[in-house]
Amino acid sequence: MGSATGTGGVYLGLCFMDEQALIARTNNSIDNGRKYFMRYIPGVPVPQNNGLLYLVATPLGNLADLSQRAVDVLRSVAVIAAEDTRHSRPLLLHYGIDTPLIAYHEHNENAVAPQLLARLQQGESVALISDAGTPLISDPGFPLVRLARAAGIQVTPIPGPCALIAALSASGLPCDHFYFGGFLPRKSEARRSALKALDERSETLVFYESSHRVLDCLQDMAAVLPAERPLCIAREISKHYETIVTTTVAQACALVEQDANMQKGEFVLVVQGQRETVMEDLSAEQRRVLNILLAGGCTVKSAAAMAAEITGAPRKACYQAALQAGQDLQG
Ligand code: SAM
Repeated sequence: MGSATGTGGVYLGLCFMDEQALIARTNNSIDNGRKYFMRYIPGVPVPQNNGLLYLVATPLGNLADLSQRAVDVLRSVAVIAAEDTRHSRPLLLHYGIDTPLIAYHEHNENAVAPQLLARLQQGESVALISDAGTPLISDPGFPLVRLARAAGIQVTPIPGPCALIAALSASGLPCDHFYFGGFLPRKSEARRSALKALDERSETLVFYESSHRVLDCLQDMAAVLPAERPLCIAREISKHYETIVTTTVAQACALVEQDANMQKGEFVLVVQGQRETVMEDLSAEQRRVLNILLAGGCTVKSAAAMAAEITGAPRKACYQAALQAGQDLQG
């Protein structure tokens, strides 16, 4: 039956046990040292004979980035639903995986998802992969996952590469809060309004971009966002020409304009959020004055107003810095 066998007995067990055994097993089972809690929800019928739907992350470019667990799952399922079967074949061949493939992409997913659901309900396990990275992240898969979950099928991620996380983690920009915008609109006017709408967000902003549009996109960023806002270009992650440069909005544009190689490949653009920039825009002396006022009991609003008056710093910057200082104190 298509359940994975190479990664621990937990997968086999889940499909065939009676309800009491399932409760006991799901509350106690260990897979690679990780405990699985609460797969049984009281009152919700437990499907006994369903297969599992695995969402398997695949490499962004470096074949060695496929995890051992991913290999085990891809070998053991009844079918692999792949965004582009021709694209995925070399990867599967490399690992000696000869599981049957079925095409599952944005143009056929509404038709194929119910077919895959039927196979899952008949007890076959299915693995979903995209061309690169984590399925569903700017990639096909959402209709299938929604159907599967609604039908009580167990959906199990096999975590691994994801371009946005790889880029963000290496960018040197704050990673504690971020906004993922996927692909910005293709047309410049729409892209600029999307960027304008995000301009005041405090989180780090992360976007996917293609080689055809990266320069246009950076030019629009330069037109809409403050020139000094830190920006990271992460290109060809995990590949031979991997380039990760953190610069500013203004300089990023010039950098890509002047170097044709910087317009080739796949890109993630990471832009620092406004709050962080504003915090950095205050000088040490301006922050010192602000902190004295806050420590002296002034409200955020009056401390910001007085600090702006005393030091000449922009009032908005003082206000945001004061707000942040207040949050830091509470946190
Ligand atoms: N699901 C994938 C993931 O988990 O990252 C993303 C798929 S999306 C269709 C493809 C976009 O991801 C590319 O246009 C690019 O923006 C980004 N990307 C994928 N591979 C990359 C790489 N090696 N380096 C930089 N960006 C990459």
